[in-house]
Amino acid sequence: MTAKDKKLCEICGLKPAEYVCRVCGRRVCRDDYDVEKGVCSVCRDTMCEICGRYPAISYCMVCGRIGCEDCLIQVTPVSYVCKECIRRGFYRLELRRR
Ligand SMILES: [Zn+2]
Ligand SMILES: [Zn+2]
Ligand SMILES: [Zn+2]
Ligand SMILES: [Zn+2]
Repeated sequence: MTAKDKKLCEICGLKPAEYVCRVCGRRVCRDDYDVEKGVCSVCRDTMCEICGRYPAISYCMVCGRIGCEDCLIQVTPVSYVCKECIRRGFYRLELRRR
């Protein structure tokens, strides 16, 4: 038995790993890799839906999309709104007072 160069995909465990995910570092097969984004299928599913570059931390309470630290703005201790919704005026950062 010599060096095992051929590693199997760490997601499906069936096909040879051809790519390395730039986010989690998993070795994955072609089926489990998104070449365009450079991430594995697991990371793609948890990737920010707004910029698509960073892992999501939570979701926007207005549009429901998941977003990263960069794209979400914390509005209460437990909820976030994405920058896009704020830009479009779907959510006002300050409550109006008379
Ligand atoms: Zn696979
Ligand atoms: Zn990954
Ligand atoms: Zn983002
Ligand atoms: Zn939003």
